[in-house]
Amino acid sequence: MAETKADMIDLAEEIVRDLELGTVSKWKEKTGGKAVGCMPVWSPRELLHAAGILPVGIVGGGDGIEIIKGDAYFQSYICQIPRSTIEMGLNGNLSPLDGMIFPSICDVIRNLSGMWKMLFPKTPAWYLDMPQSFDEIGVDFFTHELKRLFGEFCRVSGQNPDNDSINRSIAIYNENRSLIEELYQKRRERPWCFPVSEGYLLIRAGYQIDVKEHNKMLRSYIDLAAASDCKAIDNARVVVLGSFCEQPPLNLIRTIEKSGCYVVEDDFTLGARLIKGEISTTGDAIENLARAFIEQSREAAFIYRESEKGGELVEKVKKCNAEGVVCCAPSFCDPALLDQPMMVAAIEKASIPYTSFKYAENTGQFQVIREQAGTFADSIKLWS
Ligand code: SF4
Repeated sequence: MAETKADMIDLAEEIVRDLELGTVSKWKEKTGGKAVGCMPVWSPRELLHAAGILPVGIVGGGDGIEIIKGDAYFQSYICQIPRSTIEMGLNGNLSPLDGMIFPSICDVIRNLSGMWKMLFPKTPAWYLDMPQSFDEIGVDFFTHELKRLFGEFCRVSGQNPDNDSINRSIAIYNENRSLIEELYQKRRERPWCFPVSEGYLLIRAGYQIDVKEHNKMLRSYIDLAAASDCKAIDNARVVVLGSFCEQPPLNLIRTIEKSGCYVVEDDFTLGARLIKGEISTTGDAIENLARAFIEQSREAAFIYRESEKGGELVEKVKKCNAEGVVCCAPSFCDPALLDQPMMVAAIEKASIPYTSFKYAENTGQFQVIREQAGTFADSIKLWS
């Protein structure tokens, strides 16, 4: 474990940028366990963990991969993440994985799951059907779906954990979610000591390491950052919205920061904090997990509840004392871009300033974004 904050961030960046999943291979060598890739946004990591499997968050290749073969499988007018994921698969980057989960968040992921099954028929790939009814029918449906998947995980790992083991895994992930929330809370209080670019790397590193290790890493970072000597500057406090699946390049996040914004809330790594609060660790563990998804999940573009969209965003802006919203979505991302007008209507009604731009995970030019985000921050400071 790194001892200084800078070392910890370097280590996290090294893990995030390692497309060959070196930490996953090391974990497998050490434990003899299996590893399963989880596409965005949410997968039942607790069930994988209970089955002795390392859940590995796969969010494409970012700006670290040249797309050569991946383009041949998709039309030009969709997002980037399926191309780089296919490229990684064909390059052998994902060979440490013993399976892949494709949650039903959009047509692109659905089509990618079918393509994956054809290209890699020897590796199990599961389509996770997410609930559409956020009521008791949804709980029943999702419990059934998660039980089906859990059976598959146990078949891959050769283990047969009981209900108590799943509850213990839920408790470990409860701690993880609580630490991540603590990190966000500290950022809201002192964003100059807890920059979004650092917190982002720390949470993303957790996509590739064991959750207990990640909990230790988060604890040390929070303590080190809290004790660090950092000076506040007069930046604008903003909420970033729309980056929950294909991730922006790290330099885009740093660009938003450098342009005069403190990002006090975001949905970059939404999967790790989709469920709010603790999940119950007594009773039927799988039903508890399904119920938590139905009753405790955050507002998200791929979740359709009957309540008006945007309410939670407005509340979030107020809770974070934010001064504006930056809508920052991947190009051609249907869920994010179809949600955006409803989100904008809600924040306009609440007189919250906003700006919007799009990116691709391999965007390399940030000057225009720097100017736009900088102008937005300046206008907030001058006229809000
Ligand atoms: S970026 Fe958007 S459209 Fe593309 S896979 Fe993710 S949710 Fe689907």
